[in-house]
Amino acid sequence: MISNAKTQLHLLIGQPIGHSLSPLLHQCLYANHKINAVLLAHESNDLTQSVEAIKTLGVPLTAVTLPYKETVISFLDTCHKDAKRLGAVNTIIQRDGKLHGYNTDITGIAYAFRNTEVKHKNVLVLGAGGAARAVVDYLHQQQAHIYILNRNVEKAHVLAQAYQATVVAQATDIHADIIINATPLGMAPHTEVSPLPDYQFDAHQCVFDMIYNPKVTLLQKQALAANAKLISGLDMFIRQGIQQVELLLDKTIPILPAYKNTLVEAL
Ligand code: NAP
Repeated sequence: MISNAKTQLHLLIGQPIGHSLSPLLHQCLYANHKINAVLLAHESNDLTQSVEAIKTLGVPLTAVTLPYKETVISFLDTCHKDAKRLGAVNTIIQRDGKLHGYNTDITGIAYAFRNTEVKHKNVLVLGAGGAARAVVDYLHQQQAHIYILNRNVEKAHVLAQAYQATVVAQATDIHADIIINATPLGMAPHTEVSPLPDYQFDAHQCVFDMIYNPKVTLLQKQALAANAKLISGLDMFIRQGIQQVELLLDKTIPILPAYKNTLVEAL
């Protein structure tokens, strides 16, 4: 869509954000739904200034990424219960000059698992950061048996305690039905890295790598070689982005295959 005097400015704030696919995803969504808006990446090392800019410019939708997902909460007028529980906001919607915070990652995770039963399954989560917390929160709601493996063991224990999960010292301590990578290990440009380099996968397992760049991570290649099932980080990413626009419009919008195709082409 060609911009004009009525084009809304939406922002992505974080640091660094040069690699983000959010501007492209939102461009696809806006074009498909005839939304006269553009989402620009605003790399910022001063969150106070960024929030001031959002207010001054009246930015209706702001996507928030690392390192501001937690710290931005203190700047908001309201915070949705999911975001409050996770202690992390990835979306700010501005209505009548008030800033409202949401976390759409849980919806993204639920969508990624739409064809995979997690109830009573043994699920191993690699990592204990923000993405791990969101997925553990979802798994807890779905009554999965959750195991956490993290470099910083203390952080693993804090997360495990909040969700009645178990901390493990190595992946082989349990038989995992599902393994989730919620670390950046394997993300471009370090595509030669795997969070589980020596792990023997089997065909009954399912691997969800939250990383979506590269298209297929080394961890996923290892899993594929054993005929394990894969869940794509792109599905989560697309669904969380769609919910951001749904919050803006206050209506549901369909998930079209074209969104994934466009992002895959761009990777
Ligand atoms: P985060 O809060 O910074 O947490 C990173 C986690 O990875 C921490 O547990 C950290 O362990 C661990 N880690 C980092 N570097 C490591 C290393 N060299 N060796 C071992 N462990 C390491 O980041 P996040 O927001 O949770 O994001 C994690 C990943 O999820 C990223 O790759 C991100 O792109 C992806 N993600 C994807 C989506 C999506 O829509 N698909 C959404 C959100 C995030 P310590 O605690 O020991 O530091």
